[in-house]
Amino acid sequence: MDFSLSAEQQQFRDAVLAFSRKHLASGARDRAHQPEYPWDVAKLMAKQGLLGITLPEADGGQGGKLMDAVIAIETVASVCPRSADVVQAGNFGPIRVLGEYGSSLHKSKFLKRLLSGEAVISVGMTEPDAGSAVTDLKTTATPDGDGYRINGSKIFTTHSAYAEVILTYVRFGPGIGGIGSVLIETKAQGVRRGKPSAFMSGEEWAELHFDDVRVPKEMVLLGEGGFKKQIAGFNVERIGNASRSLALGRYAFERARAWALERKQFGRLLAEFQGLQWKFADMKIQLDAAQLLLYRAATNADRGFPSAEETAIAKAYCNQAGFDVSSEALQVMGGMGYSQEELVEYCLRRCRGWMIAGGSIEILKNRIAEGIFGRSFSQRGG
Ligand SMILES: Cc1cc2nc3c(=O)[nH]c(=O)nc-3n(C[C@H](O)[C@H](O)[C@H](O)COP(=O)(O)OP(=O)(O)OC[C@H]3O[C@@H](n4cnc5c(N)ncnc54)[C@H](O)[C@@H]3O)c2cc1C
Repeated sequence: MDFSLSAEQQQFRDAVLAFSRKHLASGARDRAHQPEYPWDVAKLMAKQGLLGITLPEADGGQGGKLMDAVIAIETVASVCPRSADVVQAGNFGPIRVLGEYGSSLHKSKFLKRLLSGEAVISVGMTEPDAGSAVTDLKTTATPDGDGYRINGSKIFTTHSAYAEVILTYVRFGPGIGGIGSVLIETKAQGVRRGKPSAFMSGEEWAELHFDDVRVPKEMVLLGEGGFKKQIAGFNVERIGNASRSLALGRYAFERARAWALERKQFGRLLAEFQGLQWKFADMKIQLDAAQLLLYRAATNADRGFPSAEETAIAKAYCNQAGFDVSSEALQVMGGMGYSQEELVEYCLRRCRGWMIAGGSIEILKNRIAEGIFGRSFSQRGG
């Protein structure tokens, strides 16, 4: 067993770090406070080969491994936390599911623009009455000639304010077996965005309404019975979510460490107070443990999808660690940590959201318990 990065991985990390310092360091603070997607960063990353890292070269990707994408997200976030979202969008999210299950038509229609940083794709799963219980979703796909009519609404969709295409979970029929997905272009007739809103992180979202949207049959990604495959792909999104939690926790930790080595009170450096040293020790233990769990899930996935159980463990732990560490780092920095002069408060706000997004910590723990006891537990009453 080897716990260190390979020479190739280190080389890749150094290249991403050099790129990030050159292009992303200046403006990192402003970027974090802008609700819009950083399109300029997306285009730069496309040129640098940081979008589509795990997609096959034949599809315009880099043919790399999931662990490479994790290294990219961590390294970018260490310089510019907000820009890590671009690595997420270009590697871990629905783009990866599209790359895995998409037809050559889907790929030729969408991948080029997504990989060039000119467009993003969202995943629309959550509905007003189907959050954690996602299989309760009501958005329907009703046969209409040689295609389907889509009716329903999605909420909390990341990038919904400007995404070009939505990988939309729909119901072709009753039950879990009736769930599949279609690719809906947001410019299509009948797609309507509701009142814009924002998360605590500052990111914008808008309710998406599909009113009799016509989707040709070629735009079905996975038909009836596709739910399990979709969720298997969604585990990659969870790895990206976990990576950002860990990376932003680490960013906050590094800022607090530097601060504790500069700031004096009572005539001594903050780093010299034992009460604060123990906070740093606890933060370091959480970060290292989170990293090992994350790397296990990503490394075992190699070029495929990560295991559901290892992903659940990594995400639950990284989400908690990112939040706890950001919060402690903020505390160590006092008023400066709580101020927008620094990005530590931003890291805290972002990490809070990832404890809910992509499968809340509670839902992940339900999944982990199923592995422990070797059986499933219905969450439904009655
Ligand atoms: C920042 C952010 C980004 C998001 N991006 C997207 C996106 O791109 N696409 C998308 O489709 N959705 C997205 N979501 C929605 C997200 O997936 C849901 O918020 C999440 O699944 C929880 O659903 P809910 O908010 O309806 O909460 P609910 O399901 O109503 O849950 C409320 C609380 O009860 C707990 N709970 C529920 N059921 C159980 C149970 N059986 N056991 C124990 N506890 C339980 C939950 O953990 C939670 O704490 C995003 C959310 C956030 C915050």
